[in-house]
Amino acid sequence: MNNENGEAVFEDSQAMIDLHLHPGWTDFLPEDQARRTAEEQKTRIREFLRRYRKHGFVLARDAGGFADFSEDARKEISGHPDCTAILPNGGMLGNADPDGRLAAAAAAGPFSWVKIFATGGVGAEPEHAVDPSVTREYFFRSVQKLHAAGKKVMVHTWGGVTLDWCIEAGVDSVEHGVYMTHDQAQKLAERQIPLIPTCGIYRLLAERPELFALGAAFREHAKRAAEAQRFSVPEAIRAGVLLGFGTDFYADPALADEANAELATLVDLGLSREAAMQTAVENARKILGLSSEEKAR
Ligand SMILES: [Zn+2]
Repeated sequence: MNNENGEAVFEDSQAMIDLHLHPGWTDFLPEDQARRTAEEQKTRIREFLRRYRKHGFVLARDAGGFADFSEDARKEISGHPDCTAILPNGGMLGNADPDGRLAAAAAAGPFSWVKIFATGGVGAEPEHAVDPSVTREYFFRSVQKLHAAGKKVMVHTWGGVTLDWCIEAGVDSVEHGVYMTHDQAQKLAERQIPLIPTCGIYRLLAERPELFALGAAFREHAKRAAEAQRFSVPEAIRAGVLLGFGTDFYADPALADEANAELATLVDLGLSREAAMQTAVENARKILGLSSEEKAR
């Protein structure tokens, strides 16, 4: 589990799960993806998933984007046993859906997980990072509608009042939670709501910007997020929140070799190496509702 430098690394034999991956996105910026042909996009994603599978990831929960491909294209991309299998995400709900049409379509759709964007992300100015991007009414109405249809709801929130909404509504996983408070950590633990902190990518953005084709503002925002998680992730660990492994990577083959950043960051923020590994194995299976005997694929 440790390499020659004493760093935590994944064991190849472990069947790992990434709970927050964007396999449908070939680039950080949509305009960069739009410049690629459909064939080029598919090839790039397949190459990413092949490399990712080699690193031990048997399954990834799509955090949005993969369901935009047709069923045939999805099969072509990730249907091969050499590739990481994907659980597509049934919708990316947020401020572009004021009338709830996307939420209704996701509730009626074939996919088990649906995502709500409740705040901005690394693109937002740090002082607005926890501003709600949807109304309270939209949030609760959507969660209720999705739960009534048997869907599981993952919520992108960097913290603030929308994290309270997640706790009150009883969502199925909280994504990022960068500015989570002590009280919120306690309540997530009490209500057994998992947190997917995706803490490795903020460090990568801050410390290895050459991996990403992004401007300096993103790097600055990522630095602030990494600093905030020096507080929030240890709070979650102390409170006993169920932590899940998520990289927030998109399908750039170069990123497929960097998943250890998440593991190393979790260890740095207070998990033992064993507990950090568990976030991608036992915890991930628990969060997805897979029984321990059931194969991930
Ligand atoms: Zn994401």
